[in-house]
Amino acid sequence: MKLVIVIFAVSMVFLCAFIGMWTIEASYTGEFANSVFSSAALQNKTVMVFVPHEDDELNVAGVTIKNLRDNNIRTICVFSTNGDCYPAEARISEARESLHILGVPDDDIYFLGYADGPASQKYYDKYTAPNDEILISPKTGKNATYCVLGKRDFSTQFRAAPSTYSRNCFKRDVQDIILRFKPDIIFANDFDKHLNHRENTLLFEEVMGDILRIPGNNYHPEVFKGFAYSTAYTAVADFYAPNILSTQKPDKTELNNPIYDTDIPQYEWDKRVRLPSNKTCLTRLLEGNTLFAALKVHRSQDTLKRSPRIINGDEVFWQRDTNSLTYQGTIVVSSGNGNKLNDFKLVDVMDLHPRNVGFANYLWVPSLADKQKMVKVIWQKQQTIDKVVFYGNIEEDSRIEGGVVELSNGFQVQVPELNSAGRATVLNIPPQKNIDWLKFTIKKWRGERPGLAELEIYGGESEPELFNLVKITINDDFAYDYWVKDDVKQVALGIYKFGNVGNCELKIIKGKGHLSGNTLFLDSNYVIVKAEAANNVFDQITIRRQTLWAFWKLKLRQSLERKKLKL
Ligand SMILES: [Zn+2]
Repeated sequence: MKLVIVIFAVSMVFLCAFIGMWTIEASYTGEFANSVFSSAALQNKTVMVFVPHEDDELNVAGVTIKNLRDNNIRTICVFSTNGDCYPAEARISEARESLHILGVPDDDIYFLGYADGPASQKYYDKYTAPNDEILISPKTGKNATYCVLGKRDFSTQFRAAPSTYSRNCFKRDVQDIILRFKPDIIFANDFDKHLNHRENTLLFEEVMGDILRIPGNNYHPEVFKGFAYSTAYTAVADFYAPNILSTQKPDKTELNNPIYDTDIPQYEWDKRVRLPSNKTCLTRLLEGNTLFAALKVHRSQDTLKRSPRIINGDEVFWQRDTNSLTYQGTIVVSSGNGNKLNDFKLVDVMDLHPRNVGFANYLWVPSLADKQKMVKVIWQKQQTIDKVVFYGNIEEDSRIEGGVVELSNGFQVQVPELNSAGRATVLNIPPQKNIDWLKFTIKKWRGERPGLAELEIYGGESEPELFNLVKITINDDFAYDYWVKDDVKQVALGIYKFGNVGNCELKIIKGKGHLSGNTLFLDSNYVIVKAEAANNVFDQITIRRQTLWAFWKLKLRQSLERKKLKL
């Protein structure tokens, strides 16, 4: 009898431990919130996500799409290719299913219907192919846009005829879909290792430049570029941590050129725009995570395996301003190709093919024999000017080392040596009114090819930012429902800001503790901290002390899930 009782007691202990293991909170249950996606500034706005492949919507902007749709912000997703290196039926249905999970209705999903993979037998890609060359997909044998499963490609839907596969038709379709919806915000992929990603971003930027230069254009969307690979698909697989980690700076081995922060030399890591995650995409196990559910749907790509890389505590972008006055000015140069100065492209290539591609043909370079070496931007309408931005050479051997800006009112200012890696050199000047022209003359340089990739000029009324964000960070990670060990007495908080956000105040709104500067001293196990700025911009996080047992249980559950999903 005694033995039976002992066995019973021992099994009960094991059973309780077993059940306890499974009752660990995998979701983020703390009280956290952020105002950025529910702000008045975003109401009635339209957003477009423009990507090459079915699954890049998640690589580039998955969580952001969910955040936008949760707040009823119209989000149009455009895929430029049918991903048809795999069966198009699979790709198209996966993309639709994945976007339905994120809340995008079928009517807001568009397929331009171009070919995946190489453009033709003769031309590797449509970016470097001649404008009107008809391209025949080596994979499908098709030479015109199409869609499947009852969906029509964009051209067939709106022009009642498909578009021929050519560089020109692709650009026309991209321009038409942008101007049809005139989205207030555009998220698009940027340059990485993948052929279609490269041609997609370069042609998108070319089209943006064309739109911004249309005479009298007054459409200035906020453009955010993101990387499908280095900050998502090939990012570090760091999902399984006690607290979700933010997107990490790309690993050097994942970049085209390891000497830069990202695949676009001009993009500095510290200048990235970070948008927060979504309540349903914050979990400590993948099962139950909405982004994971959307990733799982891309069966043909086995994207599930990429989840620990793609799911992060933030989504990162680089903003490209579309308000520069150079787009509506006439550009006159003393020599060289002045069209490069306002084409919206920071980089360009002669050959898209090589893995470690070298950027070329992206600069306005005056000839060395040119005595003037100047560019003049002339406007029909007088302008106010308070800022000039120069993007110089990416390569180190040539550089503009000094120059002078002159305005039509006689104002003059010296330009210092431009920043390395082609990064923006910003010249702020006291506002100058009624300006007819601006002239920049290169006075000092080194190397054979000193030049400018872009020249941007700003002034006058600036349009209000649509994303105004404050976010509390811990160890520079965006914090939401943050676990610390139960012996922790203080936590150093940071604050990330983007947009028109002024001073920001931290305060404890629940639990016991106090703040000294940005250091939080904990006197209870559950503390809610709020960061508040003007105009209802706020962030709120929960910090919870957890026992070692809770951390241990989580670790065990996570490693079991990892085994089960073969990650
Ligand atoms: Zn892709």
